[in-house]
Amino acid sequence: MPYAYDDQNIFARILRGEIPNDTVLETTHSLAFNDIAPQAPVHVLVIPKGPYVCYDHFVLEASEAEIVDFHRAIGQVCQLTGVQPGEGGDGFRVISNAGQNGVQEVPHLHMHILGGRNLGRMLR
Ligand code: 5GP
Repeated sequence: MPYAYDDQNIFARILRGEIPNDTVLETTHSLAFNDIAPQAPVHVLVIPKGPYVCYDHFVLEASEAEIVDFHRAIGQVCQLTGVQPGEGGDGFRVISNAGQNGVQEVPHLHMHILGGRNLGRMLR
């Protein structure tokens, strides 16, 4: 079944400038901003500007330019926030929740970048 994108979701409204955000990075196809309820000292959300509901939707339907831009933006945010382990940072976690079982709250693809503290083990 094709994804139905709800253009009234909160991130769509942020992209249209209807709701303010604390921008960390803006690129041609992506926007990164601080989470309103941070779960760690670094908690940045990276979203594509296009209308994609979740990760599989995005990687299957977005253009290569959008896909590259989005993933590069994630790397740039790691650089900007200083969490890269290879560059003296303490490391980070990237998470994207999708759908009901993934407990996705906002139906516009977003990657959570979390860092700045020990995040504990998530998978065993
Ligand atoms: P999800 O559960 O969908 O993976 O995560 C949604 C995230 O969006 C949550 O971490 C929540 O705190 C964040 N969020 C919800 N509304 C807003 C908002 O208006 N502004 C910002 N910056 N973050 C938001």
